[in-house]
Amino acid sequence: MDVDQGTAEEWKAVIRGLRTLLQGGQDLGLDPPQASPQSVTYLEARPSRGMPSREGEPLGGSLEELREVIGDCRRCPLHKGRTHLVFGEGNPRAELVFVGEGPGREEDRIGRPFVGEAGHLLTRIIQAMGLGREDVYICNVVKCRPPRNRDPQTDEIRACKPFLYRQLELIGPKVICTLGRIAGRELLGTGFSMTRDRGKWTEYQGIPVMPTFHPAYLLRNVSAKRPVWEDVQEIMKVLGLEGAQRD
Ligand code: URA
Repeated sequence: MDVDQGTAEEWKAVIRGLRTLLQGGQDLGLDPPQASPQSVTYLEARPSRGMPSREGEPLGGSLEELREVIGDCRRCPLHKGRTHLVFGEGNPRAELVFVGEGPGREEDRIGRPFVGEAGHLLTRIIQAMGLGREDVYICNVVKCRPPRNRDPQTDEIRACKPFLYRQLELIGPKVICTLGRIAGRELLGTGFSMTRDRGKWTEYQGIPVMPTFHPAYLLRNVSAKRPVWEDVQEIMKVLGLEGAQRD
């Protein structure tokens, strides 16, 4: 058979892409992916900008300036128990932002997001996408650790949320992935239900949002790995990462 060079190269690229995709799932301890019934629901919307700012308080024109504005924050009671304020980290121009709930013990100790056990799992998920932590941006709804890792309270979230909004506005990602119930609720509204809405594309200020389980939940519920991997694959499609190869 006479296969022209262009066609052969295209097939090689497709096979390389499939291999990466399969390997990603296997790295998370999964079987090869099945076709997902949600795979047709993704949005192609490009984010519109222009998000709310904290009224009366200038929030800075860059992530560095925003961090300065937050300063040695005492806007809510969480500051009393914190060791470090955990602002967030990663690529300031990231196409993908992960939003968690709030720092845990390790994050509070070190001052970086998702560096404990759940963080290691998140890192593996990012790597399974063919990316590194430095390619994405990782932050939380509240920047200080709630005592004994309890859920952040309404007043704490209210005080901190404008900073998350501003981070998202400054980064302008193509996709946001919310991790867990609290992050889902804060970006998608109080009507957010993990059972109903997980894995379904929705949007925040014109930016496609994929709500998925929190990695801490995955540590306790191995069966949740498959739906998370399906959600991750949806994100990869929107970001055009299916054929991505990491050097
Ligand atoms: N859980 C979160 O929601 N955020 C972190 O940074 C760490 C654990």
